[in-house]
Amino acid sequence: MIVERLVVGPLQVNCYILGCRATGEAIVVDPGGHVGDILATLERLDLQVVKIVNTHAHFDHMLGVRELQEATRAPFLLHPADVPVLGRTQQHAQAWLGIDPGTPPAVDEFLEAGQLISFGEEALEVRLTPGHSPGSVSLVDHKGRRVFTGDTLFAGSVGRSDLPGGDARALLQSIQTQLLSLPDDYEVLPGHGPATTIGEERLHNPFLQAGAAFQWLS
Ligand SMILES: [Zn+2]
Ligand SMILES: [Zn+2]
Repeated sequence: MIVERLVVGPLQVNCYILGCRATGEAIVVDPGGHVGDILATLERLDLQVVKIVNTHAHFDHMLGVRELQEATRAPFLLHPADVPVLGRTQQHAQAWLGIDPGTPPAVDEFLEAGQLISFGEEALEVRLTPGHSPGSVSLVDHKGRRVFTGDTLFAGSVGRSDLPGGDARALLQSIQTQLLSLPDDYEVLPGHGPATTIGEERLHNPFLQAGAAFQWLS
């Protein structure tokens, strides 16, 4: 799988362009802005976007979705539990950044836990990882032994759970059951900041150590 990371938008979101070498089909994960750069990268790599997929609907990950949808005609995929979050993106972008991103884009296909997102000869398994938002998903590339965790798990940290729809207990449970159940060598590619591995986070992430969760939640 071709994996290209672009840091986009005012809150430095990791947007991932994932491509199939054999067929040139690609998906774009979390196009949070800089759509011109995303399109230029796709052209340089000779890739055709067949799907736009969001790990969740927070506005920083959403800011380029509509423009990319219009430029490529690719369908936009989101988990249905994040539709209420999607409905608040305009309000949040105005409150946080003073910008108006316009009305949110239409969701063309709803993601389901356990489904495979296919493009060319590649596929990502959808895992529902609520907590940062109700419909947050992580996307697992078993062939490439990597997982795209959105804002659920970061290198040395976890996503915030104090935004509307957030839930600290659900977040930790999602990480334990859906992410730490993956093998240690799987690379973790988060929605912000550097990459890490499942093993590194299992050992050293301060939010995931025995006892830490209890203190943090109490
Ligand atoms: Zn977020
Ligand atoms: Zn984010």
